[in-house]
Amino acid sequence: MAKGRYVMRRKGLPPAAILAMCAVALIAVIFAGTALIHAHHNRPAVDPTDPALSDPAPIDPSQPPAETDDAAARRAALLEEAKTLYKGYFYDEAIALLESAGELKNTDVGALLQDVRQSRDALVKYEDAQYYHIFFHSLIVDPALAFDGDYKEAGYDQYMTTVTEFKAMLPLLQEEGYILYDITELTERVDGKAQMKEVWLPEGKKPLVISIDDVNYYEYMKGDGFAERLDVDDQGNVVTIVNGEATCDGDVMPILDAYVKEHPEFSWRGAKGVVAITGYAGAFGYRITDLPDYDEQTQKWMLEKTEAVAKALRASGWQIACHSYTHNQYWNKKTITMEEEKYDIGRWLGEIAPYVGDTPIFISPFGVSFDADDARFRYLVDHGFWIYCPVDSHMPSYCKNDFFIQGRINLDGLTMKRYPERVTRFFFDPAQVLDPARPK
Ligand SMILES: [Zn+2]
Repeated sequence: MAKGRYVMRRKGLPPAAILAMCAVALIAVIFAGTALIHAHHNRPAVDPTDPALSDPAPIDPSQPPAETDDAAARRAALLEEAKTLYKGYFYDEAIALLESAGELKNTDVGALLQDVRQSRDALVKYEDAQYYHIFFHSLIVDPALAFDGDYKEAGYDQYMTTVTEFKAMLPLLQEEGYILYDITELTERVDGKAQMKEVWLPEGKKPLVISIDDVNYYEYMKGDGFAERLDVDDQGNVVTIVNGEATCDGDVMPILDAYVKEHPEFSWRGAKGVVAITGYAGAFGYRITDLPDYDEQTQKWMLEKTEAVAKALRASGWQIACHSYTHNQYWNKKTITMEEEKYDIGRWLGEIAPYVGDTPIFISPFGVSFDADDARFRYLVDHGFWIYCPVDSHMPSYCKNDFFIQGRINLDGLTMKRYPERVTRFFFDPAQVLDPARPK
């Protein structure tokens, strides 16, 4: 229809002739529409399986341009959906959607289809040996409470990052060409051997992994300006509970979710990061390992919440990692015995994993690393934790035998204030983000 009208205009029919044809067409439409409506009013006398009635749909003469408006609206929605997929590097999905446009196909659909295909074909294999992994602890929401001069202030200043700082880092990371990447997509095991997977990105982009340690909202943090726990809202978004209220900026997870929603190009196919949890204080702020301390209703509520949060995290591009059960100093001092390790890992696998799901990722407590042939390291790999992340500001990434190692750098007060060059050489100048609310 649209194509026909276009051709007529190009041939230059006089306006009067077009007007006359339109009038004739309009009368014909009204006539046909009235006849169809009449036929439908007499439904009992009509055979409903008659193809002449079921197709095309009846036309309502009171809304002459409705069909065109509807098609335009559906096309706009389709283009919008395809653009979002395209920006988030879901190329094949965007192409499939545009190719299935059918009657909605026009030059706009064709142009976008061509753009997506070109971008997909222009991806470059990432050949650099340097990968990137930054990590945080739960963010300080209220610096006045965290930095109140008590005995915990110095620890928070060293090991924590504030919400203001984290929010300021995201556009800087994006400007530097970083794209969030799923750590489990960096590596694979083939015939029992670990190997790097091919990474294809737009030219000049770099894969970035983000992790958050101790997402447990420990008792000692209460009243110090942190979130209390994670929860899930009606739309399935992970939210933070701060002072009893659901918020979207009480920790890394909801902040990053919102940022990627606004900037899909910052995440490779929806990847977010890794949420690492211990077990001795439960998970995500729910004390599920102290169940006997609570009444039956609270126990049920805590277990259900833990499962719901884990499910919502995974559905929105997050991975969950084991950060040991005890976070005991025997990890830090590397004095941990096999017996202690069996107890520690056994409790995490027995009491936390059933509610948050299995994971191949181990974020080592205190960033400790072991030699590859250390029996305590082998124990972890043999119990499914073959993606091992210690702390190492150079962020080495490599596969060996049946495991993958990726070092991480802490973007906290300690690194940003004492070793700013470690941040500057890869990411940004920490002076650009440091919160003036930190103690001097
Ligand atoms: Zn930790």
